[in-house]
Amino acid sequence: MEDTIVCERCGSAIPASRMKEVMYEQDRRRVTEQLCPSCLDTVMGESGQVRGIVGERKAAAAHVTPPPT
Ligand SMILES: [Zn+2]
Repeated sequence: MEDTIVCERCGSAIPASRMKEVMYEQDRRRVTEQLCPSCLDTVMGESGQVRGIVGERKAAAAHVTPPPT
């Protein structure tokens, strides 16, 4: 039986294998969230810059930075 993880943005419980890890920097601190694929798309769409990185826990992860103000 597969573990499920709750998405930190929308609260949906999805299988751990579909969860994506997203990292971003906020006030110079690195923040990591576990997101479902649709929230990952939202975060990446809102971000001014996205680059793929290797996550700490997942092979698939994205490093996003906020758009410049
Ligand atoms: Zn979500």
